[in-house]
Amino acid sequence: MFNTTRGLILREVRYKESDKILTVLTEDDGKITARARRALSPKSKLAAATQVLTFSDITLFGHKGMWTINEAAVIEQFSGLRTSLESLALASYFAEALEAVSDEDYPDPAILQLGLNSLYALSKRLYPPEHIKAAFELRLMCLSGYEPDISACSACGETRLTEAYLHPRGGEIYCENCRPDAAVEISRAVLDAMGHIVAAEPKKLFSFTLDGGSLKKLGQICEAYMLFQLDRPFASLDYYKKINGDNK
Ligand SMILES: [Zn+2]
Repeated sequence: MFNTTRGLILREVRYKESDKILTVLTEDDGKITARARRALSPKSKLAAATQVLTFSDITLFGHKGMWTINEAAVIEQFSGLRTSLESLALASYFAEALEAVSDEDYPDPAILQLGLNSLYALSKRLYPPEHIKAAFELRLMCLSGYEPDISACSACGETRLTEAYLHPRGGEIYCENCRPDAAVEISRAVLDAMGHIVAAEPKKLFSFTLDGGSLKKLGQICEAYMLFQLDRPFASLDYYKKINGDNK
């Protein structure tokens, strides 16, 4: 059985002499594992299109769970990612996060689109990396069923908040009076940026503005929120922070 689809290569593992086992986020089949035969041999036509962080047209042969990639052609290489260690490290974190929230046989076009848009923005340097990272993390959580309710204090219903307190566990905000101990403070500007990330149409996701201090705060909140919800570490995130000189 043949199947053609488009997919983002999330991970590759060398297999035998010159094969690769790939994890691919596809449009039609969700996350799949596929073997690319002889993709590592110098003459392979599959080499470019089966590289990590490449979006490709792929032809799969076999059946569910045992795919082999017969043909592949590059759609978008995101070549700008490979010119900076920081960009490449952050892109690798995006790939690991996409893999973590995706399932086999459950295609999710919105999650794939978020991944592609984020890699594109990073590759073209449309926004600072920390700006793209925060928007990616929070939006990924929204698409994965963890959309925070940031419209009003979840205890008393107050909506006119000059600052709020977010509880990462439930994705709820509180006013000053109702705040639980574990909640972290967020300013109105950061709250508005979060509101934008939650609700914006995909193409406008990154179109928000924050000053440096607020962007840093947003970054801390979005990262903590994602790590709390997914409840697992990301080696690629640790690496990104290490090369970024931010070990906190
Ligand atoms: Zn309240």
